Amino acid sequence: SGWSETWTYVDGTWHAGNPPLMGPRTHAAWLGSSVFDGARFFEGVMPDLDLHCRRVNDSAVALGLKPTMNVGAMIELTQEGVARFAPGTAVYIKPMYWAEGDGPGVILGDPDSTRFCLCLFEAAMAPKDAAMSVTLSPFRRPTLETMPVNAKAGCLYPNNARAMGEAKARGFDNAVVLDMLGNVAELTSANIFMVRDGEVHTPVPNGTFLNGITRQRVIALLRKAGYAVHERTLAYREFLEADEIFSTGNYSKVVPVKRIESRDLQPGPVAARARELYWDFAHA
Ligand code: PMP
Repeated sequence: SGWSETWTYVDGTWHAGNPPLMGPRTHAAWLGSSVFDGARFFEGVMPDLDLHCRRVNDSAVALGLKPTMNVGAMIELTQEGVARFAPGTAVYIKPMYWAEGDGPGVILGDPDSTRFCLCLFEAAMAPKDAAMSVTLSPFRRPTLETMPVNAKAGCLYPNNARAMGEAKARGFDNAVVLDMLGNVAELTSANIFMVRDGEVHTPVPNGTFLNGITRQRVIALLRKAGYAVHERTLAYREFLEADEIFSTGNYSKVVPVKRIESRDLQPGPVAARARELYWDFAHA
């Protein structure tokens, strides 16, 4: 049904493909109590896998679920699965938790019914010369008061999907999403950076967007390489005037922006250097 090669570990067993896991009473399918994370296996490495495993456990706790896998066991399971099924390919690594049953009062998932699966699937890496166009989204990131934005939760993503769909309908590859105060937050599923006069700027985490693991890694690598990186409040106008814009995220790592609205941008040296530093780190 259009799935790439997929392997799923659930309840002690590996399955080929996409085994059915939920019924109409499953809380996650009904009321959205699922959390996940996304890591990568590519070129034989799994950079920051430990941080992704820790984050999915933190996301579970944020939704009132009980994470049942410790980080060490999740890493071992991932290593086992990748070595067994897909040693020579690029893989997306997706651990998930969800509530199977109702909790007290129907709305909360029952924490004691928390289930876990690890889904691995083949997903090619973006080519080295990939670049994207972006536009301002009319949709915004919710705040912690309106949604559990401190979790990587499935229930947040319909908002990201409509931002992406709206941008695509206008001919762009991705959307810049603002926070509720009107400052730049992130792209639809990646963090955003810009470069002005050789210095790097990226939105300061303010609780409305995911403080990505790749974001934090790239900031540390750029600083170590001598770049000034400013985490601060950024207006969209500053992106319109940037020398360079690029994204970070586990899926595609570092991707430059080649057009913002009607303005063409050259994929620049800082994005290229950030990508190179990430690859050096990943293979170190
Ligand atoms: N923001 C959102 C909404 C995302 O889904 C992702 C991808 N996980 C990111 C940012 C980038 O985070 P990371 O570097 O941890 O993959």
